[in-house]
Amino acid sequence: MQTTEQLKALLYKNETVADTAPEALAAAQEFCEGYKTFLDNAKTEREATAYSEKLLLDAGYRAFVPGQKLEPGAKVYAINRHKCVLAATIGTKPLEQGFHLNIAHIDSPRLDLRPVPVFEKEGLGYLRTHYYGGVRKYQWPTIPLALHGVICRADGSKVEVCIGENENDPVFCITDLLPHLSAKQNEKKLSEGIAAEDLNVLIASQPIADKEAEKRVKLNILGMLHEAYGITERDFTRAEIEVVPAFKARDIGLDRAMIGAYGHDDRVDAYPALMAEIGVQAPAYTTVCVLTDKEETGSDGVTGLNSMYTFHFLQQLCAAQGADYITACKAAKCLSADVTAAYDPTFADAFEPDNATYAGRGVAIYKYTGSRGKSGTNDAPAELVSYLTSLMDRSGVVWQIGEMGKLDLGGGGTVAKYVANQDIDTIDIGVPVLSMHAPFEVVSKADVYMAYRTFKAFCEDAD
Ligand code: MN
Ligand code: MN
Repeated sequence: MQTTEQLKALLYKNETVADTAPEALAAAQEFCEGYKTFLDNAKTEREATAYSEKLLLDAGYRAFVPGQKLEPGAKVYAINRHKCVLAATIGTKPLEQGFHLNIAHIDSPRLDLRPVPVFEKEGLGYLRTHYYGGVRKYQWPTIPLALHGVICRADGSKVEVCIGENENDPVFCITDLLPHLSAKQNEKKLSEGIAAEDLNVLIASQPIADKEAEKRVKLNILGMLHEAYGITERDFTRAEIEVVPAFKARDIGLDRAMIGAYGHDDRVDAYPALMAEIGVQAPAYTTVCVLTDKEETGSDGVTGLNSMYTFHFLQQLCAAQGADYITACKAAKCLSADVTAAYDPTFADAFEPDNATYAGRGVAIYKYTGSRGKSGTNDAPAELVSYLTSLMDRSGVVWQIGEMGKLDLGGGGTVAKYVANQDIDTIDIGVPVLSMHAPFEVVSKADVYMAYRTFKAFCEDAD
């Protein structure tokens, strides 16, 4: 006969970090100060890459030179086309015994400028946008916006643009209809209330002095841009300008236990993964951290995980050490990090509470993702889940496991399958996010810290 206490011990418990590891809360606060700075300096994949490279160089990483033999403890990095980061620390074990790979993405949903963006209507000047990733369009009007990106000029020179981040900068915005006149708009479905063609960024309203001229506001815009950046309208065709929220990362709540910011998805995993990689000294297994681009549009393209760039790097790493690449992949393990949906009591209908992941209850594990019948998923083998959960338990990491929400409401994928498809054991983990993909997303600091502790334990694992 078992007592109630004995029976209770059989239960899977999904508890808060505050209850199970209260001593971690102060460390989480401290860790997240660095994370907020990262967020404010890394609102685009290019900025995240540049800022990460600076952190790597400060930590003593050297540019990876293919063919150069590296000693255990050596730290090297490579950058893929200004948009992806690859960093590695050479382990004491030969690469044929496997490497430990931490991957996250540094692109976020946003509005991109179209190739010919500037237009004028009734005295107001706008920039036309094309949304990038899973954007809920109604969330983007009436918030302050900033412009970030690069413009390549005809002569091949490149100019960086960042307007709206400095206190003295102007900001931009998308307008919405006043409630007094919105009766017709209110009848529309939420998904249609604001259309893609409505996402026009207000950029100016003053015409040039010449009353005889046409498109006087547009001419004024082009004149100001030419003065500031030496660019013409034609140069927008070879530009990558991203429209992102102009606000900075802020603590949320009287207890300051959460962070509200643009772009948690997926910098909230990228920063902890990078910090763990930077911190590891002389690991047993070679550690590799990849911060990738293009996850939000399906990972295609030369900077997406569907490209060979990560696997070329791994191949060259193996070649330099005289290790067989295929053997190394078969023995390798990968934590594919991406945010998960945090259970939102306001929208409880969308979740199945027993299998939801919650803000403040530690890093989340997803054995599988995908839609409908797990379509498009990497379904991590039970043996790998077992490896990871025992590593986390040994390392004092608070974790939870779940799925995105109720079945058949939607779903989503991550880069995990693209790594697993290369014969590398891969599992999804990540930080739960409230209001995922919104201009202002919310995470729990305790979960950010537990993600860091997970990457750290994985980097340091010697078994
Ligand atoms: Mn993501
Ligand atoms: Mn996403």
